[in-house]
Amino acid sequence: MVNMRRLWRGSEPGREKARSTSGAAGLRTLYKDYGNEARRTLARSGLWLAVPVYVLFLFTDLVFIPDVSDITIPARFLIGGTALLVLELQFARNRRAGELEATCAAAVVLGYVVWLVPALQTSNAEAFSYYAAFGAIFMMGVNLFFSLEFGLAIVSSGLIFVTFLLSLLEFHYSAPYSLAFTTFYLCCFVFTSYVNWKLNKERFSVFLNAREAELQQRQAAERGEALLRLSITDSLTGMENRRAADIRLKQFWERWRQDGVTFAVLLVDVDFFKKYNDYYGHQEGDHCLVTVANALADIVAPLGATVGRYGGEEFIVILEVEKSSEALALAESICRGIEALDIMHAQRLDGFGHVTVSVGATVTRDVPGGKLENVINEADRALYSAKASGRNCTRVFDPNELPGGDASENIAAILKIAIQQNLVSLVYQPIQYLQTGEIGAYEALMRLQLLDGSSSSPGVFIPIAERTGAIIELGYWAIRRACCELLIRDIVDTVTINVSPIQLRAPGFAAQVASILAETGVSGHRVAFEITEGVDMEIRPDVLGSIQDLKQLGIKFWLDDFGTGFAGLSWLRLMEFETVKIDKSFLHDAANSAGAKVLLEDIIGLVRNRGHRILVEGVENEEQLDLVKSFGIDAVQGYHIGRPAPPLKHPIAVRQTGRHRLQASA
Ligand code: C2E
Ligand code: MG
Ligand code: MG
Repeated sequence: MVNMRRLWRGSEPGREKARSTSGAAGLRTLYKDYGNEARRTLARSGLWLAVPVYVLFLFTDLVFIPDVSDITIPARFLIGGTALLVLELQFARNRRAGELEATCAAAVVLGYVVWLVPALQTSNAEAFSYYAAFGAIFMMGVNLFFSLEFGLAIVSSGLIFVTFLLSLLEFHYSAPYSLAFTTFYLCCFVFTSYVNWKLNKERFSVFLNAREAELQQRQAAERGEALLRLSITDSLTGMENRRAADIRLKQFWERWRQDGVTFAVLLVDVDFFKKYNDYYGHQEGDHCLVTVANALADIVAPLGATVGRYGGEEFIVILEVEKSSEALALAESICRGIEALDIMHAQRLDGFGHVTVSVGATVTRDVPGGKLENVINEADRALYSAKASGRNCTRVFDPNELPGGDASENIAAILKIAIQQNLVSLVYQPIQYLQTGEIGAYEALMRLQLLDGSSSSPGVFIPIAERTGAIIELGYWAIRRACCELLIRDIVDTVTINVSPIQLRAPGFAAQVASILAETGVSGHRVAFEITEGVDMEIRPDVLGSIQDLKQLGIKFWLDDFGTGFAGLSWLRLMEFETVKIDKSFLHDAANSAGAKVLLEDIIGLVRNRGHRILVEGVENEEQLDLVKSFGIDAVQGYHIGRPAPPLKHPIAVRQTGRHRLQASA
């Protein structure tokens, strides 16, 4: 038998019903609803069959009770016709099966009464006494022919039985006859009622089984849906996981291939997340990821973009775009949005105290043999490039950029052991002051030797060191080394050292520099830090604070590569640089075009108005030297003056010669 408890634990619609009704009453309501339409049709077809049969019995009326047939025959038509009319009306009005069945039951009972009452008046007593046995057919009709509910069936068949008993009073049968017929009717009543009860019980059992099967099917479907949901949902953030993202990517890709709908893929990676996890613990790490995930979802929602967790601390955003500038704009708002969350991250290697993200984006474009994997690859490379550019920034994939890949990973690993394994060194390039012709300073430039003996250029390894945070230790090392190699030995008055913005943001940078100066006994006045005005050199309060502290130590600041970034003029307005180094590209261009020459002159004029000492980089020959001299600048640097070179073994002896104190070449 069906377990009723299990029945109610079933699917939502089942539970809903059960909640709205209660226990057996609820079940009854459900049972009443069960197969309503089928029962309606059954009642209708049953009555349409029963009425003609009932009417056809007019012939037996003519045979057995012809003297009253003028009443019984119209009565048959009247009852049959009325019953069908009422039933059709109910059917058309969409009344429930129970009401239609009641009409059928009433039709049968009335059909019996309306036939019996005039029939009792017949003078053909003997014929009628046989004919009266047909009354049992009515009882069978309500109990067996129509699928009536037990209650309705028993009431209707009971009424037929009672009517029969009453007819015994009216019609004077013999006692044996009455006894025999009463017994016959009673047996009919009991047996047909019993069969009706059995049928109803069977029907109820079928109903329960059907319910159970239906609920089980629903549960299986729900379980299937839940499993599917689970398989495409990230358990931590509740957003779509990598599998779902891959499915979505395929869909976007199909649309792009078929209908040319361009889309962008953005990979968003939380900067220095491993450090965050290690320092704050996994629980906080999870919390951080959830906060970032929620913020991301909020940022991309107005654009209708999809967002998912693509890996540990990596998220993926996919959206339809028309041009790559839309992807860049979204990437930027993601970066700023996450930064605005202000989640503390004291352990970042670059010293910036909050959680940030780097974003790499790519937009589909027509390339022969393009593949979906390439799209992800491109976004990945753009992300890598964003990381390499100092993090907390965005990059859109540039197809003309050469891939970095394994070589960078290798360099990142070497940088970790570079100091300890003596793979890193400094070379120094002279800076000549034009007024005196003296070499007034040397610029310290870092060199990295790889394990196979070859070397990597600073243009390659410095961004990697910035990305991995290795630049901070390397930076301290460079300051200490420059102090020891040149300043302690008094080879030159001033050494300039390149300092990355990441170093300036590192907490305690100024204090650490002070301790190096104290340790080496070098005065801060003999050190200048060169900072590059690039896009990444943001003017932030922590950077300005650090610069201020370093200035207190006597350290001077030079602005390097002026003219290559966007922030140069803002920097010039904001702080005092002792020297501004004009990027070598301006001088090199000036050799080829008159317009560029004017531009160089204009730049020099602009900087001079700010009262800074001006140095032009990249002087490679006499003509260039003459040119810059004609502009009346203060200092020059370049291969023509001296190439970057390692310090001499006995530099003090060389110091007196003024120029070319270092070895000839790096
Ligand atoms: P920078 O500070 O502008 O250094 C000048 C670069 O120009 C050096 O390249 C130098 O070798 C090169 N150079 C000098 N004279 C000439 C010339 O006449 N013609 C040409 N074509 N080039 C010349 P290098 O050593 O490859 O350094 C590249 C950049 O790497 C540096 O640019 C600097 O931004 C960065 N870098 C080097 N050492 C360090 C360091 O210790 N710390 C940091 N943060 N950055 C460094
Ligand atoms: Mg420099
Ligand atoms: Mg420079």
